[in-house]
This record gives sequence, structure tokens and C-alpha cells, in this order.
Amino acid sequence: MGIVTYPDEVLRGKSNPIEDVDDEIVSLADRMTEALFRAEGIGLAAPQVGVLKRLIVVNLEDDFHIVVNPEIVETNEETESAAEGCLSVPGPEADVERATEVEVSGYDLDGKEVKLTREGLAARVFLHEVDHLNGTLFIDHLSETARTLTLREYRNAQKEENTRAAA
Ligand code: ZN
Repeated sequence: MGIVTYPDEVLRGKSNPIEDVDDEIVSLADRMTEALFRAEGIGLAAPQVGVLKRLIVVNLEDDFHIVVNPEIVETNEETESAAEGCLSVPGPEADVERATEVEVSGYDLDGKEVKLTREGLAARVFLHEVDHLNGTLFIDHLSETARTLTLREYRNAQKEENTRAAA
């Protein structure tokens, strides 16, 4: 399962809530997990594999979660800026300002309620992935100048990639 890249329109869609964790959802979660491991990423949302459903996978050291219908219940007021990238905008990284702590709720694949409190990088990953479900990308959080530079870097990286593929 390939990862969809910017500017594919599916990345701008709003994902639908999952009503039933049926075989289709379990299989989607499997494919997403595989794609995430293969890309050696730390998080993936269903729109990134072309499916507008509210499902995310977070893969941090000792902190692996598949969350159905994840919601950010609360964020603290303190924010910090740190480098962020995205498997759908491969190449560049840019500083994004995010809350330092979040409370996330949702369900696991057994339909059991999940409640997580995370800080730092983990909080950042959950915020980034839930953003994807609402059609928001990390570049949307940047100033216009930073976004222009980040997208330029991205396009250059894509060009290099294409040249390599053609060679
Ligand atoms: Zn992303």
C-alpha cells in the first residue's frame, strides 16, 4: 500500500467516523501499519493511504497505538516549536508550534475505549495525525514564508527522486 503524497486532494478531505470496526477496518489498520513500518515513520493517518476514515497508527518506541475515531479531548496551554515532517510531504522538515501535552480519546480495534495522555513528541504525533483526519497538513501551520520554503524544498526533493527513477 503506497503512501499518498502532496498535493493529492485526498489529503484535503475530511475523514468520516468509523461506525463499525469490521474486517475492512481491521485490514485497513494492518495495511497502514505495514506501510508505516516500511516507511520507518512514527505516525500515519488513513487519508495518507487514500482512505477518508478516522483511523490513525502511532509508532513510537514502546508506544504503539491504533486508534479508531481519535479525538483530541484537551491540550494544555503551553506550546513548543519543534521540527516536523510528514510521510505525505517527504523530504523537508519545518518547525511547528504545538501544545506540549494532549489528552486523546478513541477506540482500539476491539472496540474498547482508549484514553491517553501524552507529552512532547508523542503529543505532537497525535496532533499531527488527527490533523490529517481533518484535511490539515503540517505545512498549514507554517508562516507563508516558511511554507513557501518548505514546499520548494519538497518539490526539489521530488524532482531529484524523479530523475533518479528515470535514470
Ligand atoms: Zn503527516
